[in-house]
Amino acid sequence: MIKNSILITAALVVGGACTSEKVSETVSERVGDPQRVVVEEVHTRPNEVVQHEPAQTARETIKLAAGESLLGVLRRFGVSAAQGVALVHNMKPWLDLNKLATGKAIQVTQDERGALVALSIGVRFATIVTATLEEGRWKITESTLETELVNKHVKGIVGRSLYSSAVDVGVEVEVIQKAITVLSHRVDFQRALQDTDVFEVLYQSTELHELNPLSKKSANHDVAFIKLTVSGREHVLYYYEEDLQSQGQFYYADGRSVQNFLLKTPLNGARLSSRFGHRKHPILGYTRLHKGLDFGAAVGTPIFAAGDGKVIKANWGGSFGNRVLIEHANGYRSLYAHLQSFAKGIKSGQLVSQGDVIGYLGSTGLSQAPHLHYELHKNGRAINPLTLNTSNFDSEPLSGPNLTAFLQTVARVEAQLKSSTISYQSKLALNHVLKEN
Ligand SMILES: [Zn+2]
Repeated sequence: MIKNSILITAALVVGGACTSEKVSETVSERVGDPQRVVVEEVHTRPNEVVQHEPAQTARETIKLAAGESLLGVLRRFGVSAAQGVALVHNMKPWLDLNKLATGKAIQVTQDERGALVALSIGVRFATIVTATLEEGRWKITESTLETELVNKHVKGIVGRSLYSSAVDVGVEVEVIQKAITVLSHRVDFQRALQDTDVFEVLYQSTELHELNPLSKKSANHDVAFIKLTVSGREHVLYYYEEDLQSQGQFYYADGRSVQNFLLKTPLNGARLSSRFGHRKHPILGYTRLHKGLDFGAAVGTPIFAAGDGKVIKANWGGSFGNRVLIEHANGYRSLYAHLQSFAKGIKSGQLVSQGDVIGYLGSTGLSQAPHLHYELHKNGRAINPLTLNTSNFDSEPLSGPNLTAFLQTVARVEAQLKSSTISYQSKLALNHVLKEN
């Protein structure tokens, strides 16, 4: 049950060469500012607060610099080498203090003489582990930050990029990635999107009741509704779970599934730099069949599994550099080449779901510039991912009791959308919307 509700309705104004206008995430600052954001909120506190506060006089949050070790930092606070080793040992069940990432935040508490009495570190969303030094021994306690469920309804104009515009109006990166992954079954993000197109999402997040430097702000984003207008054509999608066993999917209002078998574009924010077909090879010099698509993007851009399947190769593949090969149903395979690195856990035999991150874009092997080389094979023959007739793989539309239950979900979501009145959109935004329709 949803006990809490914060409704955010935001209008984003972006057009042509204009840059995105930022709508602050700091909701309280925006209350009463009718030009930008309308906020209605009801707070209750469903989660118990567990806080273990050591006796303390001063507290500071430090971030690990590149190449800096936690024990090195602690030495500055008078922690001996032996105490450091004991700390690493005691913290092992939660995290390896010797493998903390650069930028990891650590809260240090000192007594009046400046000696360290406790340190706190986030281990996952809303969970903090505190090591307190008591008579020379470490005492470890785990605490949970207070969280609340927050409903968010956000609408904006695509602008220069759907991704950056959505971030600008406060949509979490995970939500945008989800929406783009779902929509990429139907929308060609390389070409179809225009800066006047409109997006809208309704979702529920678990958020910290109060910001804390040791934890990210929110997690567990459940997207209920996605709408994207592409060159005047609306894609309106509702999330529905057939039963507790099966994974939910997004459907059009009439019960047709939007999820297709294989993605045409297995990454976000990329530029299609070379198509399928005969071309002169930039390094080898002679004309040959380019058996896939090349996508130019920044090194490190996450690459997604195009569909559900099993990893058969995740290793060095000569001219392909670091490559991943995935086997899908119906005789299909997908190949991802020139990767900078593989995602955690991606190895031969690993099962993956559509949209899982399998690696990161790079320029390894026979490659001139950072790009993803993406191939699809059907029964051993390379095929063009862009012309793959994905409609053959649509799952059956919902019917019977499932359709009835789904339509109830649709009605509930529609009521939720209507109750969040969009009280203001700038003239520029409205003009864009009117022009499109
Ligand atoms: Zn290529």
